[in-house]
Amino acid sequence: MEQKENWVDYKAIKEQVSMQMVLGRYAIKLKNSGKNHVSRCPIHKGTNFRQFSVNLEKSIWQCFGDCKTGGNVLDFAAMMEFGNKKPSSIRQAALKLKNWFIPDSSDEEFSAEVPVAEEKKDPAATKEPAENEDGKTNKPLTFELKNLDPNHEWFESRGILPETVKHFGLGLQKKGKAIPNRIAIPIHDHLGQLVAYCGRATNKNQIRKEGKYKLPANFSKSEVVYNLHRQPKETKALILVESFISVWKLHQVGFPRAVSIMGSELSVSQETLITDFLGSHKRIMCMFDADEAGKKCAEDCLIRLSRKLYVKVANISPYAKKPHQLTSENLHACLCIKK
Ligand SMILES: [Zn+2]
Repeated sequence: MEQKENWVDYKAIKEQVSMQMVLGRYAIKLKNSGKNHVSRCPIHKGTNFRQFSVNLEKSIWQCFGDCKTGGNVLDFAAMMEFGNKKPSSIRQAALKLKNWFIPDSSDEEFSAEVPVAEEKKDPAATKEPAENEDGKTNKPLTFELKNLDPNHEWFESRGILPETVKHFGLGLQKKGKAIPNRIAIPIHDHLGQLVAYCGRATNKNQIRKEGKYKLPANFSKSEVVYNLHRQPKETKALILVESFISVWKLHQVGFPRAVSIMGSELSVSQETLITDFLGSHKRIMCMFDADEAGKKCAEDCLIRLSRKLYVKVANISPYAKKPHQLTSENLHACLCIKK
C-alpha cells in the first residue's frame, strides 16, 4: 500500500503541471522579455533581474547566473526545494507537485464537493438538491444492489480488510446504469433506512470523467451522518471524520464509533442529528484532515457543537494528512487513549 500511494508518474505531472502553475505557487512574478519571461533567480536568490528565464509555452526554465542550469517543472521544483537535481530530489519534488496540483491522483477523499450523478443540464436534476436543503428528506430506496463484488483489488490497495468490506456492505458494482465499475457504498439514514448508494471511482479515468464520488442527483448528503445508524446508544465519545474511508479505517483498528459528514462542512441537519443522537453533555472528537478545509471545519464544529456537547479536536498533523493514513499507534496517540 505504501508503495502504491507514493507511486509517481513524471510524465503525467509534466503534462498536467505547467511552469506558470509552479511559479504561482512560489509567488514568483515574471516580466515579459520577447519570447521568454524573466526575473531574478528565485533559486540562488540573485539580484540580476534578467538571469532567470522561463519559456511559459514550453514550460522550461534556465538560470544564467550562479545556478547555470535549467530544465522542466520537476527540475525547477527540485532546485527550489532541495537545491539540486539528484534523482531522489526529483522524485520528492514530483510528489510535491502531485500533491499541490493533482489532488485526484493522491488519495484525497472529498477534497471537493461531491459531484452529483447527472451532469447534463437537466432542470429537474439541478433543482432537486436545492429542495433537499429546504427540509426535504431523503426517501428510502425501494431496491438493493445485488452481486456487489467484495474482492475487488481496490480494497486491498487501500488497506481495507475483507471483514471491513463486509461490515459496511461494500463491493464493486460491475454493471448497471448508475455506477458501473465503481465501489458501491450503501448510505443509511439515522433510522437505518438505505437511502442511497455512493459510487466511488476505482481508477483515474473514472475520476477524470465523472468525479471521484457519484451520488444520485436527488440525494442530499447534508441530511445524513454516515455510519450513525450503526452506533449503539452509549456514553463513549463519538469520532467525527470527513470521509468514508476514515470511518472504515478507524473501524478496523478498533474505533468503531466513527461517523462521517461526507465532506468538510457540518450542515445544520447533521449538527441536529449528532446532538439528538448523543444527548446533552456527551463527548465528541473531531478528527479532520490536516488541511485548510479540515481546520476550518474543526473550528466550526468546536463553536457549534460545544453548545450541547464536550468537543475535542484531534490534531493529526504530526502523523499524517488524513485520518485514514494513521497507524493504530498514531490513532491512539491522537485520541489520547491508552492502549
Ligand atoms: Zn540561479
